[in-house]
Amino acid sequence: MAALVVSDLHIDAAQPGIGEQFIGFLDGEAAGAEALYVLGDLFEAWIGDDDDDPHRRAVVAALQRLSARGTELYFQYGNRDFLYGERFERDTGGTLLADPVIVTRFGRRALLAHGDALCTDDVPYQRLRALVRDAAWQQAFLALPRGTRALLADEARRGSRQHTAGQAPMLMDVNPGTLAALFRAAEVDTIVHGHTHRPGVHSLEVDGRPCTRIVTGDWYGEGSVLRWDADGFELGRRPR
Ligand code: MN
Repeated sequence: MAALVVSDLHIDAAQPGIGEQFIGFLDGEAAGAEALYVLGDLFEAWIGDDDDDPHRRAVVAALQRLSARGTELYFQYGNRDFLYGERFERDTGGTLLADPVIVTRFGRRALLAHGDALCTDDVPYQRLRALVRDAAWQQAFLALPRGTRALLADEARRGSRQHTAGQAPMLMDVNPGTLAALFRAAEVDTIVHGHTHRPGVHSLEVDGRPCTRIVTGDWYGEGSVLRWDADGFELGRRPR
């Protein structure tokens, strides 16, 4: 048995191939796993649990099929989809986790995170993150009519693309000091995160201790899946 970890699918009706591949993954490979962790940015946008976009609903239905067949399902918020609530958990049969969270499986402890909170060099983004994660801001947003929320989400995505295009790439990667502090505070030797869309397995030392940072990739051109089993971690691609 294995646990699988994915992130950054950015599922959107504008690129239906991603959603189709992911639904195939849920009904196939994931159905044989004991757990699936989705570390944020599953959807390009999530405007609230009353979201009725048919493409997103088809993915929610596939997640529900997976959990109904006995695979444990866990989610973290991403920077695109931080508005899941209790109805999303009910509709999928999944559980929302804190970010970061420490998970123990197969005798190993790993810290799982979306990864955006580690990109502390991107100061304007961290300011925006603090705003949209504020409970009062979220309540006010969710009280708006669905159509208004959809428009605001489109506008936010345009703003985010402009911001990303205007930033030096290194400012949008994880900050090494922030990362080392997290290894230290959590007392783990493995951190798994997404967000940067730079998949890879990195060995590093923190206070003389060997540590591993695993970055799951996006699903724009192909799938990216981390398999975690008794033999350890294996990051792999899933061609479309
Ligand atoms: Mn992200």
